Order: sequence, then C-alpha cells, then structure tokens
Amino acid sequence: MPLPEVPSNRPARHFEFEPRNECPCGATLIQPRRITREYAWGVVEFAACPKCRSWIQSPQITVQALTRWYNSEDYRAAGASKDGIYLNYSADEAARRGEASARYRRDLHKRLKPGSRVLEVGCATGSLLAALRDAGHQVSGLELSSEFAEEAKRLNGLDVLVGDFARMEYAPKSFDAILMLGTVSNLQHSEHHFRRVRELLKPGGLFYFNTPLANSFSAWIYGRNFWMFAPSVSTFFSRKGCELSMQRAGFEAISCKQDYQRPTIGKWLGHLRLKVLFPLARKIGIAEWAPPISIPIPSVSVWVAQNP
Ligand SMILES: [Zn+2]
Repeated sequence: MPLPEVPSNRPARHFEFEPRNECPCGATLIQPRRITREYAWGVVEFAACPKCRSWIQSPQITVQALTRWYNSEDYRAAGASKDGIYLNYSADEAARRGEASARYRRDLHKRLKPGSRVLEVGCATGSLLAALRDAGHQVSGLELSSEFAEEAKRLNGLDVLVGDFARMEYAPKSFDAILMLGTVSNLQHSEHHFRRVRELLKPGGLFYFNTPLANSFSAWIYGRNFWMFAPSVSTFFSRKGCELSMQRAGFEAISCKQDYQRPTIGKWLGHLRLKVLFPLARKIGIAEWAPPISIPIPSVSVWVAQNP
C-alpha cells in the first residue's frame, strides 16, 4: 500500500524498515517466536533468538526513521502521545546528575586514570560526561539526536557531536574508555558497533554499558508488555546473548552485575506503562521526585569489558 504523502515542511511520522535475520550472538533467526506491538508510527516486531533467547527487532526500523522518532514529541514528551515513555526528559536532569555522580564514584573512579580520554555514545543531556569532566577527564560525547546535543550544551555546557556512531571517523585506539548508558539495546547491528568500540579503545581500554536483560524476573512478569518492546530497542539482550556478542567482538574480562539508578517518579510511571497516573503525579508535585540514593533497578545489568 503506498504511504500517504507528507507535507515537505513536516517530518514523516511513520517508521521505515529494513530486513534483519541475524542475532548479534551470530545465530540466524529461522521461523522464530515473535512479539508484535502497535505504535502510532507503525507495528514493531521482535523475534526470539533460538540460541541465546535475546529478542531481536526484525525487520529493523531504519536509522533515519529512528532519528526522526528520537527528535519527535512522540518520544520525548509522553504527555503529548501514548507512545513515549518519558513525562518530560529535560525536567529529570537534576535527578540524572545525582545518579551520574554516584555512578562515577561507584563504577568508574577507580578504573580510570586521571585525565583519561572518555567517549560516551548516546550521551543524551550529558549528565554522566559532565561528572567525568568535573573529575578531570577529557570527555567527548556523541548523540544521534540534535535536540539532545542542544540540551547537553544548554544544561551542562558540553559540545556534543551529532551523528551515527557507525559513521563517525574517530582515530583508532584513541580512547581509554567508551561508555554507553541506555544505548546498547538501541544500537542497530550491535555486533558491528561492539567491534568498532574495540577498534577505538586503547589496549586495556574499558567498555562500560548498561542494558536490561530479557531473562530477568521483571521481563518474565511483564511479558510482551515489558517496556523494552519499543521502537527504539534494536536488541533486547539475554545475559547469554550479551556475553556471546561481546566475546564475538573480541572483548575479555567481561563482567555483569546489578545496575543502580535514581529514577524519578515520572520515569518509573513511563517504564511501568502507568502513564495514566502522570497527571496525578504532576498535580501533587511528585513527578520529578527521585530517591536520594541509587537503588537497584529490576532487570537492568551493568557491564564492564576490556579491550585485550
Ligand atoms: Zn542470539
């Protein structure tokens, strides 16, 4: 069926897709079990990997369509649409800064030498990069979304590059650490990106990221309603799938543990598909409240791997 014509001055509000038949672990998806979900921009399908039980978006939304999605109000302000999961992403910045400082002290401070060169891919508003910069490291940020890059400048004074990680021309072996928070599951063809991360890391350099796990208790409870079955998610890894994919890219000393964060009430409600409670949370003034300490987040794991 031909797609409806869209006026040239407005971005198209529908997804475009490309075929995808391989899991990042290396397995081929042959007649897989599927989960489908309908969104205002189109139907999104996930296939279960027969080898590692990760969920793979198949077919895959194109990078161009996904970039439009990230820049749209449908993604960024869930109050304006039923499809987004954030009440107001920018308003949560104070909570993210507290979370970023705690993350730096807990996971990165001891692992990074003073003045380390650090790249964060998908840095959003740059709260973690700002914490690293303030600790004396040399930081670079990359964002697919120009809107987030502008927010990083406005909120944290960071000059963030806008572009697709797969196409950026960074010098090989130039970083001591590469970070991806809330990004790995969004990477299209993560197997290529993992290899690219290794190429850009110095020998002994660290790849640090977090991702929810498909074999977790909360993913099992929520089933097809779990928040990871979203347009922005390319691979919803199982623990085995993530480990196999890292090994395939040549990483060593791979560790996986529980992640800790400081989510606001608004973020919880969005991820738990309880957006019906947003107006109430706003009315009584608790939408941007976050716990004063980092708490374990069900299903979310944090990974550290080393470039040999
Ligand atoms: Zn797999």
